[in-house]
Amino acid sequence: MTKDHTDTKSPGFSWDAVQSALAGLPNGAGLNIAHEAVDRHAAGPLRDRTAFRWIGEDGDPQDLSYGKLSALTNRFANVLEALGVEKGDGVFACADRIPELYIAALGAFKHGAVFCPLFSAFGPEPIRQRLERGKARVLLTTGRLFRQKISALTEQLPDLRHVILTDAVTADTLAYPDLMAAAADTYAIPPTDPEDSALLHFTSGTTGMPKGAIHVHGAILVHHITGRHVLDLRDPDVFWCTADPGWVTGTIYGIITPLLMGVTSIIDEGAFDAVRWFEILASQGVTVWYTSPTAIRRLMRVPPEEIRRYDLGRLRHILSVGEPLPPDAILWGRAVLGRDIHDTWWQTETGGIMIANTPAVTIRPGSMGKPIPGVTAAVLERREDNTVAVIEAPETVGELGLAVGWPSMFRGYLNEPERYARCFSDGWYLSGDLACRDADGYFWFVGRRDDIIKTSGQMVGPFEVERLLLSHPFVADAGVIGKPDPMIGEVVKAFVVLKPHIRADDDTRRELMAFSRKNLGAAIAPGEIEFADSIPKNRAGKVMRRLLKARELGEDLGDLSTLED
Ligand code: ATP
Ligand code: MG
Repeated sequence: MTKDHTDTKSPGFSWDAVQSALAGLPNGAGLNIAHEAVDRHAAGPLRDRTAFRWIGEDGDPQDLSYGKLSALTNRFANVLEALGVEKGDGVFACADRIPELYIAALGAFKHGAVFCPLFSAFGPEPIRQRLERGKARVLLTTGRLFRQKISALTEQLPDLRHVILTDAVTADTLAYPDLMAAAADTYAIPPTDPEDSALLHFTSGTTGMPKGAIHVHGAILVHHITGRHVLDLRDPDVFWCTADPGWVTGTIYGIITPLLMGVTSIIDEGAFDAVRWFEILASQGVTVWYTSPTAIRRLMRVPPEEIRRYDLGRLRHILSVGEPLPPDAILWGRAVLGRDIHDTWWQTETGGIMIANTPAVTIRPGSMGKPIPGVTAAVLERREDNTVAVIEAPETVGELGLAVGWPSMFRGYLNEPERYARCFSDGWYLSGDLACRDADGYFWFVGRRDDIIKTSGQMVGPFEVERLLLSHPFVADAGVIGKPDPMIGEVVKAFVVLKPHIRADDDTRRELMAFSRKNLGAAIAPGEIEFADSIPKNRAGKVMRRLLKARELGEDLGDLSTLED
């Protein structure tokens, strides 16, 4: 979306001219996320439609219409203006899924600030690090979080000028209710270039220290396409994205996309609870539901008879992201929910869904689906000299790459330009994931490059082994790593959580070993199985294999900021 686009076929066309024409328009001109997501609807027939419905821990809902959301986000943009926040400044939020967080995000977009969400469950050090790395200028948080984790840090953060508390008053902070009451509820969004930064999002830290991915306003073109063609959002859907905004899914698909589509979003302020989740699906009449394999696996432990007590008749479309969606989860969805679960693949870096099982794709259980319209994906071979070659042969494993240029592509890693540059070669973005493509164009996830196990000259993706173990009726959860071995390079080692009432003894171990050898072959089957109480996951629900491995080898555990308790 830069000047390169000047070169088009139509005579007299100039991208710059389009830009300056847009910039001349008063409100939200250019391509401002909050204008597209909120104000556009607030000015039309959707004005009184519920944009967000928050379900509190006690079950009480709180609704905000598009009209009210527009006025509140205007107020917050005015608050930022009054605090002297300038275009490109960092506005951070560290809070649970409370309305103020959502208002702050959209208000920051309006004002041209860069919004960055932090998990409320982070400890003081991860919060400090991110605020420092991102040069946060404003932080919105709650009285409790401020007291517990943040008040002691502010001295070390010279860039942090203002801390806004949603529900408390202290000597050195500002009170959100007072600021909002004093601010006007109209706001003229400054002209916004599609290339203006909008969002700073830290990755999940599955493979190492989280990276800060920078996204621009123009990304909403992808949010639009995926909202329509992948989430299949239609009027008047009730959409529930279960992710927290601390994870990119909770921001892009928990805030921006459903608003773009003009639907009503449910936001559960409470923690995961299987029964409560089925209650929400039924009582709120959720029609489209976006969740994760980890959550699905937990829901699968609820007996089907119990699930059938809930009326899920309005649920039309179910999607999953974050980890591979194993075929047994799809079969469960069909049997128990009467619906397919649609896997989607993307990353913090891609800014939106890139590969998916859209409603138009016939699902092949275990496949991530096909690239969305406008995205070119390929399986690549990295050569020694850092060039890449496209692997044309189907069923061949290589690195999953995307042709550079989709609008929601990240525009940088915060403070790490070399690392950003290393993600690109020959016009391709290299994802760090391994995949293969079948003859019909479906993509299949194989693993992460960092996790690949080399055993007796074979390359083994841990996920393949985990998937098989998970298909065994004894197994509740599994994590697989390579354990260094002088003879064969690495031994495949599996950590297995057994279902209740299954005995952790040698008979069970033998059964799982035999099952693995029969289905995977001796070369890939685990050479060691250890029973565990749980598998370490991060807040996005991803298996932290690097942690299993570091523990096994007695090494330093590395960055644990995103580890779930
Ligand atoms: P970090 O980059 O810090 O190690 P992360 O990669 O887990 O963390 P995210 O951007 O949240 O951070 O996750 C993107 C990754 O999640 C993908 O690269 C992929 O490995 C995995 N993933 C996402 N969706 C899917 C999916 N549908 N199937 C398989 N893997 C998926
Ligand atoms: Mg990653």
